[in-house]
Amino acid sequence: MTQKTAEKILVSACLVGSKVRYNAAAVPCENDWLEQWKAENRIIAFCPEVAGGLPVPRPPAEMKGAGGAAVLEGKGQVLDNAGRDVTAQFIEGARKALETAQRNQIKVAILKENSPSCGSSFIYDGTFSGVRLEGQGVTTALLQQHGIRVFSENEIAAAAIYLAELENA
Ligand code: SF4
Repeated sequence: MTQKTAEKILVSACLVGSKVRYNAAAVPCENDWLEQWKAENRIIAFCPEVAGGLPVPRPPAEMKGAGGAAVLEGKGQVLDNAGRDVTAQFIEGARKALETAQRNQIKVAILKENSPSCGSSFIYDGTFSGVRLEGQGVTTALLQQHGIRVFSENEIAAAAIYLAELENA
C-alpha cells in the first residue's frame, strides 16, 4: 500500500498566535482544520515582514498604485505611513517565504487577507484610508508565481479540499 504524504502548510504567523503584526498584535484564527494541522505538526508559521528585517511594532505599510506582482517586477513600491520606502524588506521577506516553502516541499499556503505581504484577494489601496482593492500582496504573488496555491483565512475549507486532493493523488 502506498503511504500518503502529509503535506506541510505555510501559514501567516499572525494567524496562529504570533504577535508580529505592525501593531504587535496577532489575529488568531480559530478553525478546526488549523487546530488539526497544528496537532499533526504540519504548520510552518512564517511572517515575511519580520523575516525581511522589519521590526515589531512597525508603521503600517501599503503598496502604492500597484499589486505584489508589480512590486516584484520593480514597477511598484511599498511605503509606510510616513512615506518610508520598505519595498526591499517586503521583497526580501517574500524571497525568504518562498525559500522556506520550497525547503519544506510546500504546495499550499494560508495567508492573512488584506496584508501588503500576505493578501491573496484584497490589498489596501495605498492611501491609508481603509479602502481595499482586489489584488495580491508581495509574498502571495511570489509564491503563486512558483506554483504554490495561496488561500486566505476565509478559505481554509477550500485549502483542506485541495490538500486532500494532493495527498490522494
Ligand atoms: Fe501576518 Fe503576513 Fe503581516 Fe506577518 S506579514 S504580520 S504574517 S499578515
